[in-house]
Amino acid sequence: MHQFKVDLHIHSVFSPCGDLEMSPSNIVKLARQNGLDVIAVTDHNTTRQCAKVIEIAEKQGGLLVLPGAEACSSEEVHCLCIFPDLEILDSFQTFLDRHLPVIPNRDDLFGYQVLVDENDLISETEERYLGVALDVSIDELEQKVHELGGLFIPAHVDRPRNSLFSQLGFLPNGLTIDALQISKYADEQAVREQFFVPGEITLVRFSDAHYPDDLGSTYTWFEMDKPSFSEIKKALTRQDGRLTRLDSL
Ligand SMILES: [Zn+2]
Ligand SMILES: [Zn+2]
Repeated sequence: MHQFKVDLHIHSVFSPCGDLEMSPSNIVKLARQNGLDVIAVTDHNTTRQCAKVIEIAEKQGGLLVLPGAEACSSEEVHCLCIFPDLEILDSFQTFLDRHLPVIPNRDDLFGYQVLVDENDLISETEERYLGVALDVSIDELEQKVHELGGLFIPAHVDRPRNSLFSQLGFLPNGLTIDALQISKYADEQAVREQFFVPGEITLVRFSDAHYPDDLGSTYTWFEMDKPSFSEIKKALTRQDGRLTRLDSL
């Protein structure tokens, strides 16, 4: 078994709140510089910047990029939805397109939402504001992600807004989660005690990077055979000797 540095919560410039410096090529460069082995691109309610980041990373080698999104349920809970490949991702994008309310973006108010190519040039602009809640409940979202074979990880659960615990107050019985993500400075034991998180649920710490300086600052160690989606899934659910580990703060 080997150790891999993993960060599955990174925003690109396509997120309204993502810095213009978070271009696909810069994300790959910064991830490699910081020794990350696996990252996921998780823009708000869209997966459309993932393909370019994957393409650039594959050309250079040495970094696995998983496609995904940080979807916002109708209860305003942010959830990481991460998929094995781009083909499956297309089905999830269709789902997002169907459930994103049409509110025009105002880049002066909310920020730019631009797709950027390998040369850091803008190739497309998203006209719909991506920072709103989808018109689907967290249960429907979770079911869709799992139906497509993805990972469902409620994001920054210790935060006072847009988190599972801030919005719902508790972990609903029927909700199937693959892990819970805690923030940069959150202590694992303190979160478990505060929110009654049972020991069998894995807590991971990811960066939620919106700016270049955030990238590489926060990660989780995955002990697994090789960097792949299926090994990541096994480590999160502690199967076949795979597991995850957090550095102490
Ligand atoms: Zn969030
Ligand atoms: Zn985020």
